[in-house]
Amino acid sequence: ESKLQLLRKHVRTFPDFPKPGIQFRDICPILKSPPALTAAIDLFEEQVRTIHPQVDLIVGLDARGFLFGPLLAQRLEIGFVPVRKRGKLPGTTVTAAYDLEYGKAELEIQEDAVSPAQKVVLIDDLLATGGTLCAACELLLRLKAQVLGCLVLIELKDLRGAERLKPHTVFSLLQY
Ligand code: IMP
Repeated sequence: ESKLQLLRKHVRTFPDFPKPGIQFRDICPILKSPPALTAAIDLFEEQVRTIHPQVDLIVGLDARGFLFGPLLAQRLEIGFVPVRKRGKLPGTTVTAAYDLEYGKAELEIQEDAVSPAQKVVLIDDLLATGGTLCAACELLLRLKAQVLGCLVLIELKDLRGAERLKPHTVFSLLQY
């Protein structure tokens, strides 16, 4: 059984969550299975070591990017930096707004978390419209970091998030 097959077996789909018409892809079973979680981190590690060997930091998105990002960073023996929803981080921060299905939200990063010219790879659990990762990339650009690429476990292809993220690239383990 391949690592990708193992991963796919550990994604659950919930119809009509959190709203009618939405198919929610739930990655919690991956966290509960040591072999599946190891497979996910193995595949991310392989991708980064192959495509972005010069990476300095892994940047994870609130909240499920925090579940995978630190594990990946530790494998790569580099640091992890969180991008959080607004109001959670102390000290001077940089903020970027993004659109949700209804209304707006804001993401924040600590201003001194990434130095100019540092090379970062972003990680989140899932790419839908791309609005969240786009806002995070904007934060990194404001800090003059170099965004090498984005990683997600799951990409919802129909929503065309990868196109919205251009010129940034996204690597997904599973596509739906
Ligand atoms: P986007 O901004 O439209 O790309 O939405 C991506 C964000 O929404 C990510 O931070 C995901 O964690 C979350 N998200 C959207 N749909 C799902 C889903 O089906 N399962 C898990 N998370 C989701």
